[in-house]
Amino acid sequence: MCSETSISKADQLRSKPSDRKPVGRFAPSPTGDLHFGSLVAAVGSFLQARSGGGEWLIRIEDIDPPRAVRGAAARQVQALARFGLHPDRPVLYQSANKSRHEAAVDRLLQSGQAFRCACSRRDLPASGIYPGTCRNGLPPGRTGRSVRLRVDEQRVCFRDHICGEQSQQPARQTGDFVIRRADDLIAYQLAVVVDDAADGVTEVVRGRDLLESTGRQILLHRALGLLLPTYLHLPLVVDENGRKLSKSSGDDPICRQQPQQALRLALTVLGHSPPANLPTIESIWSWALAAWNPTRIPNSPMTVHSGQIERYTPK
Ligand code: GLU
Repeated sequence: MCSETSISKADQLRSKPSDRKPVGRFAPSPTGDLHFGSLVAAVGSFLQARSGGGEWLIRIEDIDPPRAVRGAAARQVQALARFGLHPDRPVLYQSANKSRHEAAVDRLLQSGQAFRCACSRRDLPASGIYPGTCRNGLPPGRTGRSVRLRVDEQRVCFRDHICGEQSQQPARQTGDFVIRRADDLIAYQLAVVVDDAADGVTEVVRGRDLLESTGRQILLHRALGLLLPTYLHLPLVVDENGRKLSKSSGDDPICRQQPQQALRLALTVLGHSPPANLPTIESIWSWALAAWNPTRIPNSPMTVHSGQIERYTPK
């Protein structure tokens, strides 16, 4: 496991100085309408940034056109506005940052930290862990399709505000991982790291499903020499079968929900049940900003049952 001392000195130096103003973001992919779990992530990221006097951004992660749903980005921004979730800068669109993503891939290729790979999914073992086929050069007669980051055996140690000390070994999770896809699209892992750094994001607050990507993202921060944000992974909202709500399956869109009631429930998931006597969205926000204390956030999946929030227990 990791301890205070095993979180590398270099990573500590690369972390946000405590006097830097917090900047948080909510970063949905436009793959469908936002659901109640998305609202929880938006509310958590907003409160973590704004309660510390910082800025909160919306960044639409629209770098994967095959998965994008037409009109979803605009509906996401409108839905957030109904809850009083207005960003401090104009809405950011990740697709506008293609040249800085490409520049980062080029730097990693030039420094030898990344390499071109000829493999297709069919060439990979069932484990999904890259066997290193092209890391020392392309096999004769093959051409590079994707670009992968070179990953060594080291453990990546970091502290999550809710989940505690984490120790991940990307070599055992994925091995050398794709940063530029064979279809020429930039991979999420690369784009999120480059843009968080370029947007000055200091607090990454998002759903627990992304905790296992964090080690890989820290490797990219290190490889590119970028400042590290702090991490806070929020409890997932699951249905009665334990399945995470998903935008692409059209789960429970928040644009159809009554904003005050849904905001109260989202805060309750985050361990902050608002008192009953708050009549408006604004009054709920003033209360929540003053009350916000991330140590109250539970560390287990939550579910909505008959309009009430409960911890999810598998049947
Ligand atoms: N774009 C990702 C999503 O919609 C979130 C990325 C992140 O917060 O790092 O799930």
